[in-house]
Amino acid sequence: MTKARCYHAISVDRPLWLAHNNPIEQQINLSSRPDLALRRAKQSRGSILITWSTLSLSFLLCGLALPADAQMNDTAQLLTELIRVNTGNPPGNEAQMAALLKTKFAPRGFEIDIIPTPDPAKAHFIARIKGDGSKKPILLAAHADVVGVEREKWSVDPWQGIVKDGYIYGRGAIDFKGGLAVFAEAVMMLAKNKIPLARDVIFLSEADEEGGAYNTTWLAKDHFDKMDCEFALNEGGWIMKNPDGSVRYVSISTADKSNMSLLLTARGTSTHSSMPRPDNAIFTLSKAMARIADYDTRPKLIDSTREFFTTLEKTSSEPMSGYFHDLVNSTDPAKVAVADREISKDPLLHAIMRNTIAPVFLNAGFRGNVIPGSADATINFRAIPGTNIDELISEMKAVVNDPRVEITNGGARALPPGTNPETYAENVRAAALAGPSTKDTDLFRALVSQSNVVFPNVPVTTYLFQAGTDATAWRTRNIPVYGIYPYPISNEDLSRMHGNDERVSITSLQQGTDLIYKTLRQVAAK
Ligand SMILES: [Zn+2]
Repeated sequence: MTKARCYHAISVDRPLWLAHNNPIEQQINLSSRPDLALRRAKQSRGSILITWSTLSLSFLLCGLALPADAQMNDTAQLLTELIRVNTGNPPGNEAQMAALLKTKFAPRGFEIDIIPTPDPAKAHFIARIKGDGSKKPILLAAHADVVGVEREKWSVDPWQGIVKDGYIYGRGAIDFKGGLAVFAEAVMMLAKNKIPLARDVIFLSEADEEGGAYNTTWLAKDHFDKMDCEFALNEGGWIMKNPDGSVRYVSISTADKSNMSLLLTARGTSTHSSMPRPDNAIFTLSKAMARIADYDTRPKLIDSTREFFTTLEKTSSEPMSGYFHDLVNSTDPAKVAVADREISKDPLLHAIMRNTIAPVFLNAGFRGNVIPGSADATINFRAIPGTNIDELISEMKAVVNDPRVEITNGGARALPPGTNPETYAENVRAAALAGPSTKDTDLFRALVSQSNVVFPNVPVTTYLFQAGTDATAWRTRNIPVYGIYPYPISNEDLSRMHGNDERVSITSLQQGTDLIYKTLRQVAAK
């Protein structure tokens, strides 16, 4: 606790002062000597603040945007505060996050709406800054809840926003408190810098994205007027780094995969374990599962993934560039199979080109001397837009090829806690039917052109988000939604999302804030 407070104090003082030095190097040194760092920061604070204020003033007088370093301070600082509100879902505690966000937005003149839910711990937070109304609003959505942690597997306290080695550590650093901090900071900068706006800019901090009944679909039922917009920005695509730290590509998702689950049930005779019979339900289910384990769905590309893999072809060298080329263009099934095998060594790429198959529950037996009469397994699929669950069931029946195994729509067990199965099934159908968002909007164009400014010579591509998001409320109303995790990220950091020692680079937060702020100016300023 004490240690964390020390780090926190450094993070407050540090960026103003260190941003013009080498922040990462300085951070490493100071993290290892928090006592020294704190003293140095305190000593230099007075003169730093004067210098910084003078600098800020001169930038403003010249009509220039503040240097991006300034945003690194504010966004990283905000993120540490967000991580400290434990919004692990369940239970979520998003109402506490709403209260914190109100203290940030209200003083800047935003209209605030906190929408309570039937669960007093959960609330949605909406902050709106008015434009002149000549254009429809733009909305930035970020979920406030995060998944839980396996505390013993973390090397730092996941709920403290620890600053270490140039990173902010904590649950949600990537998914999606980092994005929440970037979106919030970029929106607040419009107010700070008094940018005259042609449209309202709406910031939404959501409840229950990671599971639960009171998500944005719930919010949209009675409060859609507060979240109605011309287009929205959400989580989704990645700004991927090369191993050398340079940015390889910027991907913006225009669609999300759908979350569907199937239940496999094998039945047999329930009897004493001393007299086994050939129809053992566990064996039958195990054979079915073994067949599915040896099977994989075929690649199924859509426009956004074709563009994405073509971008990868252009940004990689042989032999990978050839595999990407074949995956998109070849009509030879053998070549596509080889390309699939090689590309699929990357789990993310494997996932976005197909309907994925992941067993998540196994259930059988209740006594050590009883052969159970049934055994079941739940398999979670993440499906390409346009996939019909009945097609998936037929495909799996053909793979299992055993009439003793029943395959049905997943049922309640596969659903996130607190979810109503009927509402959920309705949402899945609606989400699967909603097509990808059009690229022909001012927001998409602004994202592309400002990516080119912030990350020169880096290709920008559409993307299919490999998981689901809570964008259904807008997508099903034909409102374009674009997704981005607004910070350059490495493969290694990406693997920590929903895992242990989740972290985001402070420099990346600064770049992301710069990108989103510039995008908002292009799309919303008069
Ligand atoms: Zn997320």
